[in-house]
Amino acid sequence: KETLDKGLEKTSTSFLDKLGKAVAGKSKVDEDVLDNLEEVLVSSDVGVTTTLKVIDRIEARVAKDKYLGTDELNKILREEIAGLLSETNSGNATEFEIPKQDAPYVIMVVGVNGVGKTTTIGKLAHQFKSAGKTVVLGAADTFRAAAIDQLQIWADRTGVPLVRQEMGSDPASVAFDTLESAVTKNADVVIIDTAGRLHNKVNLMNELTKVKRVMQKVIPDAPHEVLLVLDGSTGQNAFEQAKQFTAATEVTSLAVTKLDGTAKGGVVIGISDQFQIPVKYIGVGEGIEDLQVFNKIEFVDSFFK
Ligand code: GDP
Repeated sequence: KETLDKGLEKTSTSFLDKLGKAVAGKSKVDEDVLDNLEEVLVSSDVGVTTTLKVIDRIEARVAKDKYLGTDELNKILREEIAGLLSETNSGNATEFEIPKQDAPYVIMVVGVNGVGKTTTIGKLAHQFKSAGKTVVLGAADTFRAAAIDQLQIWADRTGVPLVRQEMGSDPASVAFDTLESAVTKNADVVIIDTAGRLHNKVNLMNELTKVKRVMQKVIPDAPHEVLLVLDGSTGQNAFEQAKQFTAATEVTSLAVTKLDGTAKGGVVIGISDQFQIPVKYIGVGEGIEDLQVFNKIEFVDSFFK
C-alpha cells in the first residue's frame, strides 16, 4: 500500500490539484464545473471515451438530486471511478496467484519494446517463485539478442530456468521447447516473452498466432493468459498500443508499468474501461519487488489520497 501510494503520488497530486482548481470559487456542480472536470480527466490521461462516461454519470446524479455541492464532487467521482473499474476488474486480489490446474499455467507476454516487458516477466517470476511455485521462462523474442540476454539476467537473478535458442531462431520453436520443458519438470507457471515489434500488424498477428498454435501441440488450452504490458508513462501511446495488440491477438489481461515518476496514471482507468480488459499488475519501480497485483480499491484510495 505504501509503495502504491508512493508510486501514484505524482498522478494523485497532479489530479487533485487540477480538481481543486476546477471547482475553485464554486459551491455547486454546474455546467462550468462539469466542463472543467472533463478537462481535468482528459488531461489526466483517463481518455476521452471514459471521461465522457464519467461526466454523463455525474450529470445524471446532478439531474436526479437537483443539487450537488462541489464539496461532494471528490467522493462522487471516486465512487464513479471505482464503479467503472469494477466492470472489468472483478476481484480484489492482493496476492500473486495462478489458477490451480494439472498442466503448467502458461502466460504469453506481449507488448512493444521498451515498455518494461522483460522487467515485468522478471518481477513475476520472482513473485511466483516466492509463493512456492516452480517457474519456467521462455525467450521467444528471438529478434533481438539483447532481449534474450536481458531475460537471462532476470532468470539468473530469480533462480528460474530460461529456455532459449539462438537469436533469429523461430519464436514458435522456442515456445514449444519451453512448454515441453515445463511439462517435463511438472512446473506450475510458464512465462513466455514474445517479440515487441509493431511495424507491421499482419506480421505481428501471424507471429503470435503461430506461437499460440505451436504451444497448443504441447498444452491444448495454452496460453491460459495473454498479458499485454503497457508503459503507463506514455499516456495516449499506451491506448494506441492496446488498440493494435487487441486487434492482433486476444489479450486477456494488462500490466501497466512505470506508474512511478509519471502523472499519467489515469491511463489505468481509461484503458481498462475502454478495452474491457482487467488490469492485473502495475509496475511502480525498477526493483524486483516493484510490481503489484492490481487492486481496484487500493488503487482508487491512492489515486484520491
Ligand atoms: P522491454 O524492452 O519491454 O523488455 O523493457 P525492459 O523490461 O527492458 O524495461 C525498459 C526500462 O524500463 C528499464 O530501464 C526498466 O528498468 C524500466 N522499467 C520497467 N518497469 C518499470 C517500472 O514499473 N517503473 C520504472 N520506473 N521503470 C521501469
